[in-house]
Amino acid sequence: SSSGSGSSNIRRKPVIILVVGMAGSGKTTLMHRLVCHTHLKDIRGYVMNLDPAVMTLPYAANIDVRDTVKYKEVMKQFNLGPNGGILTSLNLFATKFDEVISVIEKRADQLDYVLVDTPGQIEIFTWSASGAIITEAFASTFPTVVAYVVDTPRSEDPTTFMSNMLYACSILYKTRLPLILTFNKVDVAAHQFALEWMEDFEAFQTAASSDQSYTSTLTQSLSLVLDEFYNNLKSVGVSAVSGVGMEAFFNAVEASAEEYMETY
Ligand code: GDP
Ligand code: MG
Repeated sequence: SSSGSGSSNIRRKPVIILVVGMAGSGKTTLMHRLVCHTHLKDIRGYVMNLDPAVMTLPYAANIDVRDTVKYKEVMKQFNLGPNGGILTSLNLFATKFDEVISVIEKRADQLDYVLVDTPGQIEIFTWSASGAIITEAFASTFPTVVAYVVDTPRSEDPTTFMSNMLYACSILYKTRLPLILTFNKVDVAAHQFALEWMEDFEAFQTAASSDQSYTSTLTQSLSLVLDEFYNNLKSVGVSAVSGVGMEAFFNAVEASAEEYMETY
């Protein structure tokens, strides 16, 4: 049941939304807000937590890595620190991921979206074998999009903004999945400045040139790279706290899922 050229084995629904971003960007809080929105709008969602170390979740997860692997036990058993414990827990979970895919496939007709929360520390998901396995398992079965969550107030600093965009850029090229730049916390700072910097790299260079710690030639070269990157994605402003931007977010997800069906 799919259109598009190279995606004959891929269903149209559910759309997998991988929520990734730097620690503290608001992934988990945004998950909660998105879940509330799906309930309000009668959107049929399924919710997955892939953070083995989270203590409490503000939303009810249908599938939770913590039900399968106990991160504290893993730390003890393999004599690991916290990061090693989280990474190994996710690796253990990834070995059983075909079961997770089956569960979703069985419910596919009743689902519009699967929302996926990822570990607080971004690299545990984006630069690990298990993260790649999980992403690939999703993307070879369902339309899959990445919601890259940005802490907007923290990104008002041009250097932080550029680091964050370069990270998002690396995820786009690594996963080759449609990516939605999700500027969160717009209740604290509007994301207008980011849209301006993305549209006009000279405006960004002007802002960056006031930062003495950055060499202007590097900044100029990188902003040219990013200019190309920006052409390949969608961006929305949201607040997980106030709830603004939910419609825009789901519209961007729909458009990205279309793009997925046409491309993959
Ligand atoms: P995660 O590590 O990416 O999962 O981030 P969390 O969801 O745990 O959020 C980190 C912090 O940011 C928490 O203190 C949240 O209350 C706060 N936060 C998340 N989203 C928003 C938002 O939209 N607005 C504001 N003002 N704070 C937020
Ligand atoms: Mg979290």
